[in-house]
Amino acid sequence: MVRKKLIAGNWKMNCLQAEGIALAKEVAAKVKAQKFDCDFLICPPFTLLGAIKKCLRGTKIALGAQDVHFAEKGAHTGDISSLMLTDLGCTYTIIGHSERRVDHFESNELINKKAVAAHQAGLNTVICIGETGEERDAGKTIKVCQDEIDGSVPNDATAKNTVIAYEPIWAIGTGKTPTAADVEEVHAAIRKALTKKLGKATANKMRILYGGSVKPSNAAELLSLPDVDGALIGGASLKAEDFINIAINSTK
Ligand code: PEP
Repeated sequence: MVRKKLIAGNWKMNCLQAEGIALAKEVAAKVKAQKFDCDFLICPPFTLLGAIKKCLRGTKIALGAQDVHFAEKGAHTGDISSLMLTDLGCTYTIIGHSERRVDHFESNELINKKAVAAHQAGLNTVICIGETGEERDAGKTIKVCQDEIDGSVPNDATAKNTVIAYEPIWAIGTGKTPTAADVEEVHAAIRKALTKKLGKATANKMRILYGGSVKPSNAAELLSLPDVDGALIGGASLKAEDFINIAINSTK
């Protein structure tokens, strides 16, 4: 099954306006300058979405947010709805990132609810899952991922509206990565869990990204694995050259 790779940048809580606009313009120019056989997504902080949308005009780069609320509107101080995101030109949102699961105590149930609301509003989701270092040491990686797929991925998920990102928490921002064999083993197990939940046809088409210290030097190895369909990139997405070199190396 050929799945088009998705190269996605998660800018997290970085970049003021001038910095973010300059970065988006540089990425846009580099993407326009050559032919890529992959899809691109960048997810800046909420404050920059409107400005970055303008920088991406005329490119194939999709715009995404880093979270969303499940309600359509109303008394949810500080939150952002799916319709607010689509109104700004977003076509994706990340949900269930480990930094939200940990810092904001987000549960699988909440993430599932957010995904349903996003899909109903026409937003695609990147649903993040992954084990802690302790869970990995205890041999629980696959069980944790299966449980997170079961709990976080809604029954309405399709290969079009949902992308899974496997992000071992101990690999995020640490420079450490699992071995290629470990990554492939977990991705294959995730696809099996998706098959059980959504059926073979959907699971075979659904993209499963790897995230956690992806950089130009390890992209070729990690992204050539059979069940790895792209990358969710944190730190390296803040440098246009690194982000683009990951895309170049991953489609070699
Ligand atoms: C992330 O947080 O989504 C991530 C993968 O970060 P980094 O690439 O910096 O490890």
